[in-house]
Amino acid sequence: MPSIAIIGAQWGDEGKGKVTDYLCENADVVVRFQGGANAGHTVVAGTRTFKLHLMPSGVIRGATSVLAEGMVIDLDTLWEEIQTLRSAGLDPTGRLKISDRAHLVLPHHKKLDAGGGMIGTTARGIGPAYADRSARIGIRAGDLRSDTAILDRIAALWNAHPDQVRDVGWDASAIPDVFQTWRARFAPYLADTGRLIRGALKEGSRVLFEGAQGVLLDLSAGTYPYVTSSYTTAAGVAVGAGIPPNLIGNVFGVSKAYTTRVGQGPFPTELQNELGDRVRAAGNEYGTTTGRPRRCGWLDAVALRYACDLNGFSGLVLTKLDVLTGIHPLHIATEYRIDGARIAAFPADHEALSRVTVTYTTAEGWQEDLSGVRRFENLPPAARRYLDLVAALSGTPLAAVSVGAHRDQTLAVRPIW
Ligand code: GDP
Repeated sequence: MPSIAIIGAQWGDEGKGKVTDYLCENADVVVRFQGGANAGHTVVAGTRTFKLHLMPSGVIRGATSVLAEGMVIDLDTLWEEIQTLRSAGLDPTGRLKISDRAHLVLPHHKKLDAGGGMIGTTARGIGPAYADRSARIGIRAGDLRSDTAILDRIAALWNAHPDQVRDVGWDASAIPDVFQTWRARFAPYLADTGRLIRGALKEGSRVLFEGAQGVLLDLSAGTYPYVTSSYTTAAGVAVGAGIPPNLIGNVFGVSKAYTTRVGQGPFPTELQNELGDRVRAAGNEYGTTTGRPRRCGWLDAVALRYACDLNGFSGLVLTKLDVLTGIHPLHIATEYRIDGARIAAFPADHEALSRVTVTYTTAEGWQEDLSGVRRFENLPPAARRYLDLVAALSGTPLAAVSVGAHRDQTLAVRPIW
C-alpha cells in the first residue's frame, strides 16, 4: 500500500514535522486531515527553518500539498504561509490543494476563543470553528465560489451568534469585503481533495497523511476535556481526508523519548523539579505556535501502549533521544495505581488520571553526545537498551530514531515506505 500515516503518539509536539519532512522525500502527495493553525510544525531544511501552522510539511519538498476536508482553515494565516514560501522561492501554486469541504475559521471564532478558555487552548478559533461545523452553521471553503452560499451561511451565523458577528463588524445582509479578498486569493486552490487523494492512491502514488497534535489530545480518545476539537488518531485519517479506511497503509506513531504537555490537564509522569527544567532547556520545549513553556516528564509507557493499541502502529519513531544524554538513571512509567490498586487501562476520566500513582522501571543513562550519530548501530549500548525497553513496553517495534532537528539526524531502523 503506497500510503503512510504519521500520528503523534503523545500530547502533540512529538517532532512530527521533522519526521514527515524526512519521509516526504519519497512522497508524491502530503495531506493534513485535521486541526488547523493550532498545529505548529518546525521543519529545518538545510540552513533554513520553517514554522508552518497550516501547510503540510511536504510543501517544502515539492510534494502536492493537501489541506483536506477534516481541517478548519484560517485563510489569513494560510496566506501568510504562502507569502513566506514564495519569498523563500517555494511558491506552492499548482501544488497546493484546499478541500472545498474544509471549514473556515472566521473572525468571530477567534473572538469566541479569546483567552484560550478554561482548558488553555491556543486561542486560534479552532474549537469554535469545529463547534459551528457540528451545529451546521459553518462556512466551507467551497462556499467562496458562490455569493448565494455566503449570504445564506452568514444569515445562519447571525441567528446563532448575533453579538459576536456584530462585534467583528459584519452586516446581517451583506457579504463582508474580506470574502472578495479570500475568493480572489484562494479560488484557484479549491478542489475535491478526497477524490484527488483516492485517485492518486489508485494510480499508485505515494501519499503521506500528516497528523497534527497527538493521540492524547484526540476529541474522543484523549484526556477529555483537555483535548483538541478534532480526531487525531489513525481513525481520523479516513474521515478527515475523505478516503476509505482500507486505503490507509502503514501507520507510524511519533513519540519523544520523554513526555511533554502544553496547557492544563493531568500529567502523571511530570517532573516539577530541576530535572524537568533541564529537559525543557535541553529539548527547547517551548510551543511553536504560542511560545508557551512545555511541561516535561518521563516517558509514559502506559499512555504509549494505549496510543499503540488505539492506532495499530506498524512502528514507532522515537524523537529527541539526544535530549536525554547525561541523565542517569532514566525512568519509564510502566503501571498506574489508584488507591494502591493497579489499573489495567489508561483511564477515560481525567480526575482518575490526576490521582494515579506511577510505577517506574529504571534504565541506565549514557553520557555520549548523540547528535553526531548517523547509524542506529552506532548509538551507545545504554541508548540501544533504552530503545529496546521502549519497544518492549509499548509492544511496537521501532521504525526510526531521531537525535537532532536536522534531517540527517534521523536513524532508520527499518524501511518505512
Ligand atoms: P510537531 O508539532 O510534532 O512537529 O513538533 P514541533 O515541531 O512543535 O516540536 C518539535 C521540535 O523539536 C522542533 O523544534 C524540532 O526541530 C525539534 N526536534 C525534532 N526532532 C528532534 C530531535 O530528535 N532532537 C532535538 N534535539 N530536536 C528535535
